[in-house]
Amino acid sequence: MANWKMTRTDKPSGAEIPARVSDLLRLPGGPVDLNAIATGATPGFIGSGKADGKAAMRHLAPRLADLQEQLYAEGCAEGDTAGRRSLLLVLQGMDTAGKGGTVKHVMGLMNPMGVQYHAFKKPTIEEREHHFLWRVKRRLPPPGIVGVFDRSHYEDVVVVRVHDLVPADRWSCRYGVINRFEEKLGASSAIVKCFLHISKEQQQKRLLTRLDDPTKHWKYDPADIAERAYWDDYQQAYSDALRKCNTEAAPWYVVPADRKWYRNWAITRILTERLEEMALGWPTPRGWNPDEQRARLAAGQ
Ligand code: AMP
Ligand code: MG
Repeated sequence: MANWKMTRTDKPSGAEIPARVSDLLRLPGGPVDLNAIATGATPGFIGSGKADGKAAMRHLAPRLADLQEQLYAEGCAEGDTAGRRSLLLVLQGMDTAGKGGTVKHVMGLMNPMGVQYHAFKKPTIEEREHHFLWRVKRRLPPPGIVGVFDRSHYEDVVVVRVHDLVPADRWSCRYGVINRFEEKLGASSAIVKCFLHISKEQQQKRLLTRLDDPTKHWKYDPADIAERAYWDDYQQAYSDALRKCNTEAAPWYVVPADRKWYRNWAITRILTERLEEMALGWPTPRGWNPDEQRARLAAGQ
């Protein structure tokens, strides 16, 4: 069990707060028991709830936007020195966990020019004819871009396992395949994998909210009710996937997601912290000089 699960309160004293939310939410090595990780906790957040959470988001937004623009600018630079780096955010979680909300509220802070979103659905006939990573490789973000996967190759060790869609000897080999794939990808892409962790009760509330609000009916899927019967199997499949694919190159973060404002704040922090680690900056001009250009403009050109 990670330390914060035992020691955190909603209002920790200054001494208790590690500087990085990434460190707090990073899944530790060893056995994973999702039932032991609180879904309603707010690790690292100092404040008293939704209003403070929203205010904190407003405070974080400009820094995240700046870093994303620096990554984009690096990707635009020409020549041998052009950046080859990108960032991939992988979002996994049960139905209603907030993958869409994260895209709206966190990715919405970024310039859409530099963001590439893809939702992985049930594989198409064409996708089924290929290796499970085929469709994933086609959607990886190019240099300079922040890619968001709304579901991902992890479905191929989660839903596939829960519903016996392929034999166990096939899906059980996939953890290693995923680790090798992500390690290679990690050479050019920062990979941030977030498991949005909600409780079964919270899911029930969210499904009811969707039913009660006609503007949310488009999000409602009757199949989600049938899936609830498999809740424990999903938690088990997720526990194994998180434990087996929690690598240095591509770590898992378990984000308590019963409180939407905390989920948004925590993922914003994790992304900001990861981009800061990349030591980005504004690219210096290559092949032209600002003073010369200014002089040309001043000379009436
Ligand atoms: P949603 O994200 O609610 O639009 O639903 C997408 C559905 O596609 C979910 O039920 C996923 O479990 C399912 N799905 C995604 N990837 C796979 C996969 N590789 N194999 C089977 N089902 C998948
Ligand atoms: Mg759905």
